[in-house]
Amino acid sequence: MAVAAELALPKPPLQSQCLKLFGNPSEKGWGAKNLEYVSPPFAMKMGDITISRVKINKLAAPALRAAFNDIWEACGKNQAAVARVHADRFSGDWVVRPIRGGSTPSMHSFALAIDLDAGSNPLGALETFFMPGSLVVKCFEQRGFIWGGRWKGRRDAMHFQYVRVG
Ligand SMILES: [Zn+2]
Repeated sequence: MAVAAELALPKPPLQSQCLKLFGNPSEKGWGAKNLEYVSPPFAMKMGDITISRVKINKLAAPALRAAFNDIWEACGKNQAAVARVHADRFSGDWVVRPIRGGSTPSMHSFALAIDLDAGSNPLGALETFFMPGSLVVKCFEQRGFIWGGRWKGRRDAMHFQYVRVG
């Protein structure tokens, strides 16, 4: 796969470090201080809504940009090819909410996670469109993202986060 000039990407933090590193996402002004917008080089949609940019934590922005570019390159810069690997199906970025059934903030609260194609990758499902070896999974993992499809307890194949579990 053609990968553009290697970037020195920051190491993803640990989940347990996030509150200390980024502060409480529920606080006023958190977004303005911590978020960056990343525009994928391909067209992306959430249902019928065009998503031209993704809100992401500044720390994760270079890695997300790189993963998007890798997908675009691997698809021969062809939108139909991007659609075939479901990279064009956006399902969420920054949402301030706790992890279901827990008091720890979701990594979406810190804008360190992106969900793709929730429709074909439902939470908890074992057979999903994104599987180990899928192009989208490969492109995100090679840029340091953790893929929720590898989680044993509560598999989350739509979920890619730039933060390590721990
Ligand atoms: Zn998610």
